[in-house]
Amino acid sequence: MLNLVLFGAPGAGKGTQADFLIEKFKLIHLSTGDLLRTEIAAKTEMGIAAKRLMDKGFLASDSIVISMIKSKLQENKDAGGFIFDGFPRTVEQATALDGLLEEMGTSISGMLCLCVPRQELVNRIISRGKTSGRTDDQDVSIIENRIKVYNEKTDPLRDYYSDQNKYFKIDGMGSVEDIAHRLIDTVSSL
Ligand code: AMP
Repeated sequence: MLNLVLFGAPGAGKGTQADFLIEKFKLIHLSTGDLLRTEIAAKTEMGIAAKRLMDKGFLASDSIVISMIKSKLQENKDAGGFIFDGFPRTVEQATALDGLLEEMGTSISGMLCLCVPRQELVNRIISRGKTSGRTDDQDVSIIENRIKVYNEKTDPLRDYYSDQNKYFKIDGMGSVEDIAHRLIDTVSSL
């Protein structure tokens, strides 16, 4: 099984690049941001609880996102592999993911980190907010908070995967196609 973690700060281009990797390697796409937005649209209890935090640029609780991922893995037991987008975002989530994959007799193949300078992240999110309709993409203070939370809680995961020799840094600047080629070359070498 090929299991990839697509990693990077908000606005790094994870969603856009996930599409290329899914197409090329026939993976199931699991984006916790998308899953949470589906829960919010359906006005479930889980969605309502998560929305309060997401609206301010904070992370949803570990238990909510871990249980969403667990049920998606169970629904797709015969998949050839997964691409995790926006998950894990904390060390607790990464440890839980390792446990869930181990139960399926598999593991993470590699963590691909899209590197983009801070100001470019803010510019990209603001430009996405003009069409995405996402309220968390339209307010600079919320965007700044998401980047701060990323630096504090999520960035340490680079060490988590680096310690397992699974960390791959990818230059996230340039054309969408150039970045996709860098990612595909790296994944092909795994
Ligand atoms: P994204 O679509 O990945 O940018 O996520 C949008 C928002 O959903 C984030 O700012 C968080 O509030 C929440 N979220 C998405 N994935 C996670 C996760 N793995 N853990 C906690 N919160 C998450």
